Amino acid sequence: MARVGTITTPHGAIQTPAFIPVGTKATVKAVLPEAMADLGAQALLANAYHLYLQPGSDVLDEAGGLAQFMNWPGPTITDSGGFQVLSLGVGFKKVLAMDAQTFRRDDVIADNKERLAHVDDEGVTFKSHIDGSMHRFTPEISMKVQHEIGADIIFAFDECTTLHNTRRYQELAMDRTLAWAVRCLDEHKRLTDERSTKPYQALFGVIQGAQYEDLRKKAAGDLGGLESSGQSFDGFGIGGALDKDSLGTIVSWVNQVLPEDKPKHLLGIGAPEDLFVGVENGIDTFDCVLASRIARTSAVYTMEGRFNLSNSAYKRDFTAIDDECDCYTCTHYTRAYMHHVFRGKEIIASTLATIHNERFIVRLVDQMRQALLDGNFADMKADFLGRYKHRSGQSRD
Ligand SMILES: [Zn+2]
Repeated sequence: MARVGTITTPHGAIQTPAFIPVGTKATVKAVLPEAMADLGAQALLANAYHLYLQPGSDVLDEAGGLAQFMNWPGPTITDSGGFQVLSLGVGFKKVLAMDAQTFRRDDVIADNKERLAHVDDEGVTFKSHIDGSMHRFTPEISMKVQHEIGADIIFAFDECTTLHNTRRYQELAMDRTLAWAVRCLDEHKRLTDERSTKPYQALFGVIQGAQYEDLRKKAAGDLGGLESSGQSFDGFGIGGALDKDSLGTIVSWVNQVLPEDKPKHLLGIGAPEDLFVGVENGIDTFDCVLASRIARTSAVYTMEGRFNLSNSAYKRDFTAIDDECDCYTCTHYTRAYMHHVFRGKEIIASTLATIHNERFIVRLVDQMRQALLDGNFADMKADFLGRYKHRSGQSRD
């Protein structure tokens, strides 16, 4: 199901498959937008939840939208906030465990008096992780916030579940996500008409359904063919609980049902081996905060796998992080220097390591695209995975 394509937006085109780096709060931490463009990033993904809390989506609207505000001239995307209010709000770990846990108690969420987010059929009430103030997101509010932020691609507000939830709860959450999808389409249409002088924003629906084949296919069928107010989804995100071992199976169930002519985005997935699985099952774009987050802890990707630059083994290693990498960091600095700046807690350590990791992942997906065009994807994949040591990772910010 692998394919190449082009997504056209008012701020430029994205050649797919593509990895989209994450700048949660309208900045890729520690790296200038110019450096992100130089390393091959075609678009950046920010987060509606974080920008709503700070500085406020009205500020971005006044600034002329996200791209203008953050000095990123290319395409931008915002995640709807559904995942964030339900994960940060509830206090889940930021990194979703991709191995199914042994317990599957229906709400860790609902039973817990300490919970910070309450879901009802209308929306989600949550407590800010910044100052503890109370807020409410509904599909309509998420659409308003994302219209004000002004990214080229925005996502419908969904209820994101985890592998801990029971099947019954997954069904309820899916019904709610479908009802919210209709409300998102209606409000998106209304806001698009009301703000007709602004560039068109594409709205993507989000496919939930956890690890259940019938639920995933039903969600894909329901949202894929959904039309309301004369509006249908412009593309789709595959989200929610994704067990690493069944990632490819789940994506293929969904993509067999979704309309073929619309873009498919895999939310929060960015480990190298998972990117191959996504691409071969028809995914066009990915985002993941992992590349930059682990970089700041001195963990870097190489063709041989991941390692930590702060490890004393690299104190006198005057080779590049990855001698096959063409990034600014690898062409100008050594592992010994990187070891030194990480040990000394120098700010430049995060900058240089992030540039390398983002380049590594962006380039890997670009290489997949080229391999598809050249007809040698299978060889390229076998070559890479033969050398690369696996590490799991699913992460949205
Ligand atoms: Zn590099």
